[in-house]
Amino acid sequence: MREPSKSPLTESNLTALFLTSDRQQRQRIRRSLFASRVYGVCSLLVLYGVLVETIDPREGTSLVGAFMLSCLCFYAVLRSGLNLRFDDPSLTLPQVLVAQTLVASSYAVAKEAHGGALMLVALVLVFGIFSMNSRRANISGAYAVLSMGAVMFYKAWTEPLVYPAKIEWGYFVLVLTIVPTITTLASLLTKMRQRFKSQKAELSQALARIHEIATHDELTGLINRRHMNQVLAEHAAMDKRNKFEFSVVLLDLDFFKCVNDTHGHRVGDEVLRNFADEARRVLRETDVIARWGGEEFLLMMPEVTPNAPAIGVDRLRFALASMQISAAVPELRITFSAGITAYRSGEPMDEAIERADHALYLAKAAGRNQAVSV
Ligand code: GH3
Ligand code: MG
Ligand code: MG
Repeated sequence: MREPSKSPLTESNLTALFLTSDRQQRQRIRRSLFASRVYGVCSLLVLYGVLVETIDPREGTSLVGAFMLSCLCFYAVLRSGLNLRFDDPSLTLPQVLVAQTLVASSYAVAKEAHGGALMLVALVLVFGIFSMNSRRANISGAYAVLSMGAVMFYKAWTEPLVYPAKIEWGYFVLVLTIVPTITTLASLLTKMRQRFKSQKAELSQALARIHEIATHDELTGLINRRHMNQVLAEHAAMDKRNKFEFSVVLLDLDFFKCVNDTHGHRVGDEVLRNFADEARRVLRETDVIARWGGEEFLLMMPEVTPNAPAIGVDRLRFALASMQISAAVPELRITFSAGITAYRSGEPMDEAIERADHALYLAKAAGRNQAVSV
């Protein structure tokens, strides 16, 4: 006997385990892990600084500990889904603020090598540039200037030999120039992104509208002939593969010209609309009805047993006999004739429709208000 197969530890399983199977969450975690790589390199550099005795061992290891802790905490929050409770689930602003705090701390710890930390100020802001709105970009920019200014001032005050004031001023001016430039770029990018987003939404709306226009009849809201041809072709293909049998029915309103001639085109249109509504209401959900042209409708019914389609068609006939089809002419009643045929597996669709049309002709010839099956 075969053992039930256990799910293998595939790459996709591992990805789902570490990054979740939710696409958006995965993206957020990936971005955070991407930043963790920079933390990793910075940790190695700090340890190198400790090794070559530029950085105080206690301060250096604390800093590396803080790097690791920050990576772990953000990973845990993102992986557990706790981030979804916040306004900005990507947690970009908190990540940027924590990173900026760590950059300022690195600046304070790095002694002679502190100039290198300036590059990280820019990197942290660039990290948030794609996913922060203007307000958040401004907050992170202001925090970068304030935290770097404070640490520069403090270090120039307490350790003027390693952080000479005349150099720190220059560095501060640099920060003061670079940070607002990046945050301005971030705001511009955000505006551009928002424009693209709304253009994309407008485009998909327009596309949906065009699709609706291309596939539906404007007057009745039913699908149109072009789309019905597609539906029929799909059903014929399904029938070939899985023996999905169906019937084709042509319905034609009786003496409709007379309705137009007697009551006007507007009443005629109203009758067509109400007929379509009633057909949708009375027929089954699996039946598909289309406006085939003028006052003619084509019905696709997934039933082939001799009487089944005729029963559905008669249900519609009885419903119409008692319904008020025009509010403008309450006494008006309409009838229709129908030609029914079963689709024969493999035959061209035109042949089935022609057969239904012939059956319709017979129904008209036999006095109208009836269905003929062939
Ligand atoms: P029969 O019982 O033999 O089908 O007679 P009929 O009068 O229904 O058939 P005929 O083909 O002579 O006339 C069809 C009429 O349907 C003529 C045309 O003006 C009308 N018609 C077609 N499309 C529309 C439409 O969109 N709105 C209106 N109001 N009338 C339409
Ligand atoms: Mg007619
Ligand atoms: Mg007709």
